Amino acid sequence: MTPPRSAELFDRAKGVLPGGVNSPVRAFRAVGGTPFFVASAAGCRLTDVDGKTYVDYVCSWGPLILGHAHAAVLEAVRQAAARGWTYGAPCEAEVELAEAVRTRMPSLEVIRFVNSGTEATMSAVRLARAATGRELIVKFDGCYHGHADGFLVKAGSGVATLGLPDSPGVPAAVAGLTLTAPFNDADAVADLFRQHAGRIAAVIVEPYVGNVGFIAPDPAFHPALRALCDQSGALLIFDEVMTGFRVAPGGAQERLGVRPDLTTLGKIVGGGFPVGAYGGRTDLMRRIAPEGPVYQAGTLSGNPVAMAAGLATLRETARHGFYDELEVRTARLLGGIQAAARRHDVPMATGHAGSMWGVYLAAGRGPIRNYADAKRTDTALFARWHKAALDRGVFLAPSAFEAGFVSSAHTDADIDFTIQQLDAALGDARAR
Ligand SMILES: *Cc1c(COP(=O)(O)O)cnc(C)c1O
Repeated sequence: MTPPRSAELFDRAKGVLPGGVNSPVRAFRAVGGTPFFVASAAGCRLTDVDGKTYVDYVCSWGPLILGHAHAAVLEAVRQAAARGWTYGAPCEAEVELAEAVRTRMPSLEVIRFVNSGTEATMSAVRLARAATGRELIVKFDGCYHGHADGFLVKAGSGVATLGLPDSPGVPAAVAGLTLTAPFNDADAVADLFRQHAGRIAAVIVEPYVGNVGFIAPDPAFHPALRALCDQSGALLIFDEVMTGFRVAPGGAQERLGVRPDLTTLGKIVGGGFPVGAYGGRTDLMRRIAPEGPVYQAGTLSGNPVAMAAGLATLRETARHGFYDELEVRTARLLGGIQAAARRHDVPMATGHAGSMWGVYLAAGRGPIRNYADAKRTDTALFARWHKAALDRGVFLAPSAFEAGFVSSAHTDADIDFTIQQLDAALGDARAR
């Protein structure tokens, strides 16, 4: 059943916005049907314009680790906005947030704030090229690093979902500077370093993949990347836009015990406002303008309201036990989903790091270690499951190739409700 107000709004939206949306996956094309339009959100729930409520596991695609409209963040935003919402001159909150980030992630010795994850990765690669005097970069099949030209090569997420191998409008000359390897395959990266000796500026990686569903790294993978970069004078860039402040207090680099040269952040660092950041070794970051010659700027960068939201979010997540509790709740959710899958005789692979999680339906033989494995998943069954879940008041990401998120606003009761509904929805999906 399509909610009538959402359907009407979607028709209007299609007249003025490409596909009716401002970011492709929101259009539900991978699962079919019509997206609901949100009227309001609070805690772990979204309410649509037709008055239907959903327990939300998208969490704005990652930023909302505290859930929607968290009281402390709301108050910080209110107070900041009342003092004016953009200055075009420095403010204290920028310094405070940078210091808070560095305390949690010490490898970010110096930090630059931007307005999105895309800007962060684009700028980090520019810096890596400038610092090394080399032009090639290595990325992994299925990893998504935002929509800058050089990253739209085997880019996962919306790109994988829509079945576009890469994008028209990206010059071949630019795409040609991006080399790709399968995730979890350090030998393939070693081969690239041999074939392109002295020409690779950086390896950029989602340390836990979240943009083709959830994929965990083998324990030896990141240490091997670190060693390969060190041997060849290339930089290791961890794209922690999704994992930063999500999988551990200090992000994936803390969880994995590997120190990258540069890190990109987004999502949680802005607490749900448009913030990205890149940072890392002082000697590298000192090359950024105005201290050095590598140019990068932004009219709204370091915006005081967005900085306040990020700071309040980091403060709340710094509470002792915060991450452990979230991880336990996420494990409870996945345990319930696994049990449902067994009851309905649907083979399923699940995984999580902290409160970032993923489910692969009918993935068949063996663990999911890379994008090729992920593509074995049954996307048609996922689409039916997604729709049945939505009907039952649970909002999963509208694609088989996305991570899910649990927030601190999801209570055990919410998790148990979700398990019941997803169990029943799996039954519906198999019957259809
Ligand atoms: C979301 C995401 C990006 C892009 O961030 P935007 O703010 O959407 O531009 C980059 N890298 C990763 C790993 C992401 O998950």
